Amino acid sequence: MRGTLPTVLCLALLAGGCGGGSDGPPVDQSGAAGGHAVAVRVRAQAWATKAEVAWLGRVAAWNAAFAEAGGAVGRFESGPRFDSALRGDASSLAAYATVLAPIRRCAATYRARVGTAPTARLREAEERYRSSCASYRAGVELMLRAVREQDDGLAERAREEIEDAGKAASVAAGTLPPGEKQPLPRGRDGRLSRIDPRFGGAAARVAGKPVEARCWSAGDWRRLMVEERAYTRGKVNATVLGFASAGGERINLAPGICRGLARVASGRTLPDAAQPAFALALAVATLAHESTHAAGVADEAEAECSGIQWLARAARALGADDADAERLGRVYWARYDQLPAVYRSPECRDGGDLDLDLDSSGFP
Ligand SMILES: [Zn+2]
Repeated sequence: MRGTLPTVLCLALLAGGCGGGSDGPPVDQSGAAGGHAVAVRVRAQAWATKAEVAWLGRVAAWNAAFAEAGGAVGRFESGPRFDSALRGDASSLAAYATVLAPIRRCAATYRARVGTAPTARLREAEERYRSSCASYRAGVELMLRAVREQDDGLAERAREEIEDAGKAASVAAGTLPPGEKQPLPRGRDGRLSRIDPRFGGAAARVAGKPVEARCWSAGDWRRLMVEERAYTRGKVNATVLGFASAGGERINLAPGICRGLARVASGRTLPDAAQPAFALALAVATLAHESTHAAGVADEAEAECSGIQWLARAARALGADDADAERLGRVYWARYDQLPAVYRSPECRDGGDLDLDLDSSGFP
């Protein structure tokens, strides 16, 4: 019966949130677009209002508490007391019910801590969260009965309810926050917030699926960060270079990163000097890193190592010639040991666990 028990209680949320080396140097030394043009606001009404930002913050805090409760359930289910509960031990069963209580109370804590969405456009998320809570409650009640009655069939139904709950919550999360979801024009104009098909094409190669690459003007990036910061509890903030949307359909790139990518895509020869070349390498590395997140890799060190191994190919997909693409890869890899610890792994090496091509002896 253990095999059928849920380990999917955590709301799989806040999936984006990272910068590919957010303490790296700013990409401000190159770029075809120029940085001084006044950015055009795409749609003022698309950005979250103050009340909406506050609500997003409450959703995020509630999500985090819920995920923590889900983690406690997971730990309990992999510990010895769960086995005792399965054998019918009354106090262990009571302890299991206690650890499940916050999951069961999902709707009540949502009402108390999040409350009604301030605008109609956030209602879809609200409805899905409420429906997710109803499924969590049903799933928890079924699960407790399943353990009490030693009933595999009930456990299976419980697992399905809880999976449905997780899916509904995940869909709800995917509709938030509103700014990142707004329609953007497609194009290459570096002054505008836009969907850039050249960068999306390179991202799709890395991710192995369609990915939309969103480049934001400096002003819009700041507005975007207000919402993302609230919704990710600070994980996505003004220092990040990019982040993938929940669900991985889109990657969002900071203005400096897009300038670097445009420079690489221009086909002009790379700058000789180390620092400008590194800035371009960082831009491509960020695209490859976020594309790996979009493909479903959450771990930062793994995303970074994959991005490094894709870097030269991504540069080629952008339009760099072979020599320049290889150089960008080398330039970035040479500074691997300077990355923040969260982006590094001892397995990121030839033959290591994160080596994507074990047959080749070259790395990256
Ligand atoms: Zn990341």
